Amino acid sequence: MGVTRLEINLPALRHNYAYLQSRVAPGTKMMAVVKAFGYGSDAVAVAQELEQLGVFYFAVAYTSEGAALREAGITSPILVLHPQPDNFELLLEKCLEPSLYSKRVFEAFYAFAKAKSQQHYPVHLKFNTGLNRLGFAKKDLDYLTTELEGNQILKVASLFSHLTASEDLKEKEFTQNQITAFKNVADQLLPHLDYTPFLHQSNTSAILNYPEAQFDVVRTGIGLYGYGNTDTEDAHLMPVAQLKTVISQIHTIAPGDSVGYNRAYQSKTMERIATLPIGHADGISRAFGNGVGYVFVNGEKAPIIGNVCMDMLMINISNIPCEEGDDVTVFGEEISAVALATKINSISYELLTAVSQRVKRVVLR
Ligand SMILES: *Cc1c(COP(=O)(O)O)cnc(C)c1O
Repeated sequence: MGVTRLEINLPALRHNYAYLQSRVAPGTKMMAVVKAFGYGSDAVAVAQELEQLGVFYFAVAYTSEGAALREAGITSPILVLHPQPDNFELLLEKCLEPSLYSKRVFEAFYAFAKAKSQQHYPVHLKFNTGLNRLGFAKKDLDYLTTELEGNQILKVASLFSHLTASEDLKEKEFTQNQITAFKNVADQLLPHLDYTPFLHQSNTSAILNYPEAQFDVVRTGIGLYGYGNTDTEDAHLMPVAQLKTVISQIHTIAPGDSVGYNRAYQSKTMERIATLPIGHADGISRAFGNGVGYVFVNGEKAPIIGNVCMDMLMINISNIPCEEGDDVTVFGEEISAVALATKINSISYELLTAVSQRVKRVVLR
């Protein structure tokens, strides 16, 4: 008897890693982004696999995510994209490497590292080239060069920036300006250091669309998990996560009967409906209710009827031969996470990371 589970397909991860490597210049290294539980999958299983494949670096969003990887035995360097001064103690204890993106955070980390008698602690400097999210501005370069020249406490492991619209070819000019701006920052800063940090600016879509922005390292997230932000690229990649569930109960309902909370669905004919043990608390948004979303039962499409409940949802299986205990696919082989996300004007990233920690992860090796 099955339960709701997210299958994590490591052979698919290996395939995607190899495909992305084939799309970067020889010598360009890979930083695997495993934030948000590995895009909702299983960050530890993914990181262990990639570490074996020889990945150069990992990136996570928050310190606690990096700490969890260390506790699971990951020894590769880990960049924390959004470290917060409150977490510096843990960051240091776990040998995590902070992104320093403003004077405030730079000063705080410098003072902290000094107080802890650190020498050459690896840090990464992030520059804002147009996303306007996190990053130093060009005008901060004088401050940085003064701080960094001869600095014995911190060592700049890398300089990086993040693109705003690498998946959108209508924004080519904007993106090219971001690439130029990042090159200018590196040109101005590097002569002030007596060592050479590595440079990185590309996320998955930039790897695929802007080979001129690969620099020394690329940061790939969504591509590793099997999505390339275009149909053409998706065809080269394999989804790592498949969300599956099972039929808990089947009812036959008469014309005029209703299904679920607030009677949102009312049948016009005799119908067969099934209840699935997955709801909005598992990551299936209420926006999928009332026929917007569907699942696959024995290879056939079954629409979600009525409102999605917290722990369950109901589907119409009137024309589908199936019985209680049968497997159901929410996304995976028959429908990709991106195709399902599109139904609610969302994106693969959001649907994947929404799969809550209540859902059992099953790692397929
Ligand atoms: C999440 C993230 C990435 C990964 O982007 P993908 O589009 O998933 O490849 C890269 N860099 C930064 C700064 C990020 O926040």
